[in-house]
Amino acid sequence: MPDVLLLALLVVAIAAGWWLGRRERRDRGAASAPPPLPHDYFVGLNYLLNDQQDQAIETFIGALEVNSDTVETHLALGNLFRNRGEADRAMKIHQNLLARPTLTTEQSERVQLELSRDFLALGLLDRAERLLEGLVRDTQDDELRGSARRLLIDLLEREREWQAALDVALPKLARQHDDIRRAAAHWLCELAEEERHSASPVLARRHLRQALATDARCVRANLLLAAMAHDTGQYKQAIKLLRRIPEQDATFTPLMLEPLAHAYRLLDDEEGLIRCLRELLDQAPSSAVITLLAKTLYHQGQDQDAIALIREQLERQPSLEAIHQLLSLSRHHAREEDERIELLERHTLTLVRARPRHRCRRCGFATETLHWQCPRCRNWGTTQPIDAPDRD
Ligand SMILES: [Zn+2]
Repeated sequence: MPDVLLLALLVVAIAAGWWLGRRERRDRGAASAPPPLPHDYFVGLNYLLNDQQDQAIETFIGALEVNSDTVETHLALGNLFRNRGEADRAMKIHQNLLARPTLTTEQSERVQLELSRDFLALGLLDRAERLLEGLVRDTQDDELRGSARRLLIDLLEREREWQAALDVALPKLARQHDDIRRAAAHWLCELAEEERHSASPVLARRHLRQALATDARCVRANLLLAAMAHDTGQYKQAIKLLRRIPEQDATFTPLMLEPLAHAYRLLDDEEGLIRCLRELLDQAPSSAVITLLAKTLYHQGQDQDAIALIREQLERQPSLEAIHQLLSLSRHHAREEDERIELLERHTLTLVRARPRHRCRRCGFATETLHWQCPRCRNWGTTQPIDAPDRD
């Protein structure tokens, strides 16, 4: 919003406050002359006429009287400033309001909530945390407590205080809101990752089981449990855990393919891998599964089966990845080197690699690496692998 509009709002707010005061005096039958407009009002106008907008805004805010009628105006102004990226100005307004002893408890709590939002916007996390903890503990207003809890969770997430975030969210908030339940499962996974690396596998497994109990669709928990089984040489157990992922959420199937193939290869069981991949394809079509199956068949010497699989995939759902793989298999299969195929293979590979591999289903943010928490919209578990059939 341009400053001109903000200034106009301020002038109107001051004039309205003055007019209300004047009417109140008249209604009470006060005989004295109406109160004059505040001195600051004219100073502000003077700044405005001299094109000094910043000083005019500061002066007008000073002129805006704080009483029960203007608390809403102050709150609206503070929010307006914060939304414009001027959280320091919003903070001054809210601190000025809080210093007034005339505020009711309800008004004071609303101002504290807004002030904590200012602190968060300014990166003053300690101050925001203290204020929000006090509100969560003391307020009698359920709606306000819910807002304070959500802000506190947001803050604790930024500070990577996973256990503290869980303490605030579990069990009530997570039961009421799907997004918080999904996030809580990821915080438990974050704890498990830290514990796994600090040699506390028992604790890590406990947190991962808790993550699955909190959100049965948390594929990350099964991926981590499988990785831990893999670390201790329990490859069959790792396969069993990985195979649960397509049942949890088929869009995450591409994530489990690499560790799955690795585990089968360590068991020296390529046939088992082929069988498993065929079963996965029966459950749901997936370009990533077809690609891995074709590669595995090719390595097993079943060249024709591999090529037939990709051709079939291309007929059903054309994609750049499938074209690249067909070229790649054809080049290796050809008896003589064909420079044209090699050239096409190289360039299709460049095009495939230039595409993002993951996308947030909530905000559309596309990225090469998988982020369990979307960097743009900050939702957990919404960034998914892009499987070729959905992409084209
Ligand atoms: Zn997002």
